[in-house]
Amino acid sequence: MFSYDAIVLGAGLSGAVMAQRLASLAGWRVLILEQRDHLAGNCHDESNSDGILIHRYGPHIFHTDKAEVWDYLSGFTDWIPYEHRVHGRIDGKLVPLPFNLNSIDALFPPDQAQQYSQLLLQEYGAEARVPILLLRQNADALLRQLADYVYDKVFRGYSLKQWGIDPDQLDPEVTGRVPVLVSRDNRYFQDPYQAIPAEGYTRMVERIVDHPLIEVRLGTPMRRHLQLNPHGTGFLFDGMPFTGQVIYTGMIDALFGFEFGALPYRSLRFELEQVSGPWQPVATVNYPNEHDFTRITEFGHFVGKANGPDVIMREFPMAYDVDSNDSSMPYYPLFTQANQALFERYKQHAAGIANLTLLGRLAEYKYYDMDDAVYKAMQMAAEVSEWSPTQA
Ligand code: UDP
Repeated sequence: MFSYDAIVLGAGLSGAVMAQRLASLAGWRVLILEQRDHLAGNCHDESNSDGILIHRYGPHIFHTDKAEVWDYLSGFTDWIPYEHRVHGRIDGKLVPLPFNLNSIDALFPPDQAQQYSQLLLQEYGAEARVPILLLRQNADALLRQLADYVYDKVFRGYSLKQWGIDPDQLDPEVTGRVPVLVSRDNRYFQDPYQAIPAEGYTRMVERIVDHPLIEVRLGTPMRRHLQLNPHGTGFLFDGMPFTGQVIYTGMIDALFGFEFGALPYRSLRFELEQVSGPWQPVATVNYPNEHDFTRITEFGHFVGKANGPDVIMREFPMAYDVDSNDSSMPYYPLFTQANQALFERYKQHAAGIANLTLLGRLAEYKYYDMDDAVYKAMQMAAEVSEWSPTQA
């Protein structure tokens, strides 16, 4: 009988990298079970008839400051250099986001703009990245006035749509992702490595899992092969105790039958429209204060094809409802203190299963970017492979 040293649940970036590392570094035989009918999880993409890569589950832009992650992925893909630019529609104008000194110039009369910019530079220094929640606590009344403006016009409406709550009820890490920049750098990310995989994320993940020791079964829900044993202390694979490693990248609450209640996740509905490009000046325009959608992304910009037939995507946020029959997916953990406390209960529970590793956005209830996901998978693979697997 063919046996496995590890079973990975989920063929997204986290699961794929974990499987590849276990197979190539430790020589493990790895089975990946993926319930969807495709690889690459939420960074799955496909080319349309005009050769434009459409990101089915929302725009994914690769960026990292970690040379290790960049070098690793570069073994599986060529890249199209791309630096993401985002505008926000504020007071009827399109201004650069993250909100920066150029945004200030675009929105305020020259004297006021100069005053704000000078204060920011004095207080934080050139190129500083200031989380909005921190800026709101500044002792200077004028800086607080600017902070309140940015909070109201950039963060409040967007967060209400995206998360269903005010920004100050969220973990500061969430709004801290898009700080106020004391800079004239109009790029969305300042990381040294920024690019789009030349043939797409799906092709990159195909190459990652293309290894003689890795078997992938798509369209295969976990329950078809793998269950918790009746005591909840380990796993059964096709009815037999499985003593290899189980790496789980799905929703942690689902793994335990929602025993402590459902963990809240946010979802999105996407609307695609064919357009003649360039339809908007930059790849993404955010609408904090208008419409039911948060942002519109025009895909051609990612791959230098913004002239000609193009596709735009509108993102409509909503709560993820595990019982609903619609096809919505959990995309984001909803970071509040109460939800993180609930997650900790599940995590404790998981710690009671010696051969279980939780990995990725849904299993670790963490707002990982793609590079974080890859980095964590690389680290965890090194740890997991130290274990001596007993074969199934
Ligand atoms: N955000 C906001 N207004 C914006 C952009 C971002 O309020 O115009 C806040 C919002 O809470 C959002 C978070 O910052 O969910 C993170 O934004 P990011 O662009 O990183 O979101 P992602 O691309 O991961 O959906």
